Amino acid sequence: MQDLNILIVGAGVAGLTCAGLLQRKGFKPVIIEKEPEGKFNTSGYMLGLLPLGGRVLTELDAGEEYFARSIQMEKYEIHKEDGSLNKSFSLDFINDDYGSYRGISRRALIEILLGKIDVSSIYYGTTVNTLRQNDNSVEVTFSDNSRQVFDLVIAADGMHSQIRRQMWKKDEYAYFDTNWGGWVAWLDSEPVNSYKEYWGASSFMGLYPVKNQTGVFLGGPNEVAHEKGLHQFVWEIQSQIRPEYPELHSALEAFLKMEKPYFWEFHDCKTENWQKGNIILLGDSAAGFLPTAGVGASMAMDSASALADELSRTDKNHLDYGLHLYVKRQKSRVENAQKDSRNLARIMFVKSKVIAAVRDYALRFYSLKQLASNINRTMEGA
Ligand SMILES: Cc1cc2nc3c(=O)[nH]c(=O)nc-3n(C[C@H](O)[C@H](O)[C@H](O)COP(=O)(O)OP(=O)(O)OC[C@H]3O[C@@H](n4cnc5c(N)ncnc54)[C@H](O)[C@@H]3O)c2cc1C
Repeated sequence: MQDLNILIVGAGVAGLTCAGLLQRKGFKPVIIEKEPEGKFNTSGYMLGLLPLGGRVLTELDAGEEYFARSIQMEKYEIHKEDGSLNKSFSLDFINDDYGSYRGISRRALIEILLGKIDVSSIYYGTTVNTLRQNDNSVEVTFSDNSRQVFDLVIAADGMHSQIRRQMWKKDEYAYFDTNWGGWVAWLDSEPVNSYKEYWGASSFMGLYPVKNQTGVFLGGPNEVAHEKGLHQFVWEIQSQIRPEYPELHSALEAFLKMEKPYFWEFHDCKTENWQKGNIILLGDSAAGFLPTAGVGASMAMDSASALADELSRTDKNHLDYGLHLYVKRQKSRVENAQKDSRNLARIMFVKSKVIAAVRDYALRFYSLKQLASNINRTMEGA
């Protein structure tokens, strides 16, 4: 049953999770990663992992290390742009009923996943040049001009998937652009166990704790951020925040010390069909995520687990059916969570002060389950 010859493109959250689970089931996938080994996993951002993702780490027998390298989140607070608290949501219903909701750095998560696979199967600094679908296999030429035939190619190469670009037509996938984006900075201060977000008009800030650190996100509409530049943007936000919130002022100072600030643009992507012959999309390449609901990595791991599971139940002659079952299991789960992320973006990313004031007032009447109803249903198994 484990005779499938598999190529995984991309050693990110989805690719490494899938590789680890496949190896545990006796497969020997080849993994390629475009970053050279020396540059791989050297920078990153903070991740909130729902039990949807955390449970897969248990499946990988990495639960203990995951808990040691992350912290449990207890509260999610939404503040106004002056720093005052607007609404606080308890995360007890997640922690108590579904599993621990935890903050972890992307870097730590990738290290944990690397610890669960045979790293000699990863070829760094390698990409695909060409792909050719044969009868029931794919012929691949790599960037070093070597050539190999695989029964299955798993495209886990992220939001801007090169494999999808090469093999899917342009009208088979679509990007959704919020036209907002921002920068990430790190604070070395002792983290608290709550997410704190500051929803303004034309500005957004979030404090996301991980083990021993807090990741801070600061952003706004792309055109405003680019026109003002990071420093001017920070000074204007500082002038809006009341002096009684010194921790916010010092969080913003972290952005002024950054040497090479990177601006993340917030868009996502949706692909109509996840499968083309013997090529399958996994993670952000199938359905990319805005960070607004903090669920992309969890869904990528959830899907990696479903794909590894279906592959372990099929053989070469019935691969098409196995892939069909994987898509059937995951597509609507993932796309429903994607809908929540988009809806939250529409609420969070508001330019007008009047609309922001109405939003801030209305927010008081919503529960977290209502704001992320699809994600909640997904956790319930829908
Ligand atoms: C700022 C920010 C904050 C986020 N916060 C959260 C959060 O709090 N919670 C959450 O769940 N999600 C969050 N996300 C989303 C989450 O990171 C993604 O949904 C998740 O990483 C998707 O996993 P993936 O494996 O599909 O893609 P990635 O993790 O992006 O991995 C893709 C891999 O493929 C490699 N690659 C790319 N192109 C090629 C190529 N041509 N050939 C070979 N390799 C290639 C890349 O180098 C990378 O290693 C956030 C994202 C951002 C940008």
